[in-house]
Amino acid sequence: MKANLDVLPLDSWVNTGGKPLIIAGPCSAETEEQVLETARGIANNGFAHILRAGVWKPRTRPGSFEGKGEEALPWLQKAKAETGLLTAVEVATPQHVELALKYGVDVLWIGARTTVNPFNVQDLADSLKGVDVPVLIKNPVNPDLALWLGAFERIAGAGIKKMGAIHRGFSNAQETKYRNSPMWQIAVEFKTFFPQIPMIGDPSHMAGKRALLAELTQRAMDLNYDGLIIESHRNPDEAWSDASQQLTPDALADMLKGIEFRKATYGSDFQSELDRLRERLDNLDRELLEVLASRMSVVEQLGEYKRDNNVAVLQLNRWKQVHESRADWAKSLNLYPEVVEELFKLIHMESIRKQTEVMNQQNA
Ligand code: PEP
Ligand code: MN
Repeated sequence: MKANLDVLPLDSWVNTGGKPLIIAGPCSAETEEQVLETARGIANNGFAHILRAGVWKPRTRPGSFEGKGEEALPWLQKAKAETGLLTAVEVATPQHVELALKYGVDVLWIGARTTVNPFNVQDLADSLKGVDVPVLIKNPVNPDLALWLGAFERIAGAGIKKMGAIHRGFSNAQETKYRNSPMWQIAVEFKTFFPQIPMIGDPSHMAGKRALLAELTQRAMDLNYDGLIIESHRNPDEAWSDASQQLTPDALADMLKGIEFRKATYGSDFQSELDRLRERLDNLDRELLEVLASRMSVVEQLGEYKRDNNVAVLQLNRWKQVHESRADWAKSLNLYPEVVEELFKLIHMESIRKQTEVMNQQNA
């Protein structure tokens, strides 16, 4: 099913000279000085088109900094007047929309915790009727493509034609490398429904930490994303929210210099169906390997535990049970049990090798 939304191209509302759109700025607007100084740093480096700053912050737990609210909106106006950068804030209620528009914010975005709730999104859509403002929609926190698509349908239903998707990753139940798992294939699948909607990568909220920003940014560019939204703060370590994932404007400029921008523009139909399917396979294979890597790290922990408690590496009963359960799972997923069995023999062999290595580490 392909829904046809009436969407205007990115260059109808922001001039990037054919380059990827860059949105940068602090997670939250904290003080006037902080907003202005960060905006100056970003503008002086010349890489960004839009200044972002959260004014109303949806915090997962109460008690953390929830944003300065209306008080911060004039700071953004000042930053725009001084630097020429357009401004963007997150809106979660019709009142936020009204205030953002009152203070001349140029671009609105809907946060991941809002996209999950169709009532909420519909309220926002109703408040946007008759308004001409670009709206970016983050993926919902949970990996549900339909919710993301549905949010676009609702906002488009209000007559908004300037839209973009922000891929910020999906929250995960277990500890993983990333704060939010990218699950790139969901964004690729999104493109098969709405190829005309620009895709903007949010490596900051995927990463959760500075060290991972470059690789995630490169990945988004390799997938021909149309732009990036990255958090930048004059003094990241002192940030009132998301401190560990922010970069100073200078560090962000340096990071972006190291990125290979493979294509100037995405172009909605450059990709044949064949390319699209191959891209999906590439993404899925990469995720398979990421899962394998997580599995190996658990195997390693298990090896350490066995070593410290003097338990043998191989326990036949356990192996038998693994064997049978995987074959059953394979059947229920319509996979050939024989093939899955072979696969697990290899995986198991590698696990035994790894655990033996861990055992020997102490003996060595
Ligand atoms: C943010 O952009 O600071 C934010 C709150 O992001 P998300 O909605 O992706 O969690
Ligand atoms: Mn943030």
